[in-house]
Amino acid sequence: MGTTASLQGECATRLRSDTIHPMSDLSHLLTNNRVWAEGIHRTHPVFFGSLTAQQRPKFLWIGCSDSRVPANEIIGLMPGEVFVHRNVANLVVHSDLNCLSVIDYAVNELKIKDIIVCGHYGCGGVNSALAPSAGRFFDHWIRHVRDIAKFYRSDIESEPTAAGQARKLCELNVAVQVVHVRESPILQHPAARGVTVHGWIYDIADGLLHDLCPMIEKVRALEPPCARA
Ligand SMILES: [Zn+2]
Repeated sequence: MGTTASLQGECATRLRSDTIHPMSDLSHLLTNNRVWAEGIHRTHPVFFGSLTAQQRPKFLWIGCSDSRVPANEIIGLMPGEVFVHRNVANLVVHSDLNCLSVIDYAVNELKIKDIIVCGHYGCGGVNSALAPSAGRFFDHWIRHVRDIAKFYRSDIESEPTAAGQARKLCELNVAVQVVHVRESPILQHPAARGVTVHGWIYDIADGLLHDLCPMIEKVRALEPPCARA
């Protein structure tokens, strides 16, 4: 029987041989992790110990997968303080068991009272909904945003520039997803009483978040009856 080190070596060799492309060297990320963990431990010696007991996040963040919009960092929170779900274009689709399970767990298990749906300007997923379909698998997902663009076409076209129209669709997309969360059976259940759903948009250009409250109320009034169970 080999040692742990030799088993790890055999495992790495096997993985390499089964992979079409040569294995990337990610050792710098593991080094970064050690530096990060040591830094946290120096400033907060009991931090990791307290996290192992249980998680008590106060917020659920539903955001875009975009690498420029990391949930914890932009709202200044540490690990353990925000429960996160991310997908392309920060969508809340009625049949997406992944997202709905996260919302259910957040509300009914973690007892979270504030849900934040956060989009961002310059969203590649949202922008692609304003372009012709490329016929890729991805287009099935973006079809949800295309439907929003179609429904709110006059609002979007009231913006004189293509950039302005893209920004408006980013905002409208957030507002519609907020309505989807609010009107989901999970939030409609009496157990979810007291939960607030917020809609924000993040500007990558200056790092600032903006509350979309007025637009959300307008969208809520306009959403088709089928979305207002
Ligand atoms: Zn995005």
